[in-house]
Amino acid sequence: MLKEIEMLVQGYEAFRDSYFNGDNGLYEKLVAEGQKPKILMIACSDSRVDPAIVLGCQPGDLFVVRNVANLVPPCEESDQGYHGTSAALEFGIKALKIKHVVLFGHTRCGGIQSLFEVTQKNKERLSFIEKWMEIARPAFEKVQQQHIHSSLEDKMTTCEQYSLLHSLENLMSFDWIREKVEAKQLFLHAWHFDIQTGLISAHDSHINVFKPLVQETLQALHAKT
Ligand SMILES: [Zn+2]
Repeated sequence: MLKEIEMLVQGYEAFRDSYFNGDNGLYEKLVAEGQKPKILMIACSDSRVDPAIVLGCQPGDLFVVRNVANLVPPCEESDQGYHGTSAALEFGIKALKIKHVVLFGHTRCGGIQSLFEVTQKNKERLSFIEKWMEIARPAFEKVQQQHIHSSLEDKMTTCEQYSLLHSLENLMSFDWIREKVEAKQLFLHAWHFDIQTGLISAHDSHINVFKPLVQETLQALHAKT
């Protein structure tokens, strides 16, 4: 068997031993009661930023959407095209009644990086990524205008954070999200994970800065609720 697949089988066997062969009981509960995740997480497809691993979650804790660069598209007509992220938002918020949406961005994001690269030569091969990354273009343009003298790395980090804020705005373009947020029945969060240092910072909407997660979470949540 291929080594790569063998690794998965070993992982699966350990997982099965933990959750199904002992008296763990978690899946018994999740099957009997159905899933009741408290957090809807939108994270990047990047293999280094699995939110369940980074945030120490168990099966049933997170309802997760992962896509290139953890983007939320604006609300568009549902009969035009296919809207995977919007469908997951709809199910998580309307059917599962999740009250917290966390956008989970990260440093060294390849999707964001692609905005800074001249992709002309790869145009055909990366056409899906280019089209998808148009969602983050306003963030890219803001960085190019306002941070013209920053290093490329700093520009990309800032763009990742601006893109998170832009996705927050796009979340509010869905009527059924905006109404719940305004009624304080739904709370939106933008977190940014630095994969070099391990630091997660969270956007504080009161002062419009990203602050270390531990402080933000408790203070901002108390202020909002
Ligand atoms: Zn990424």
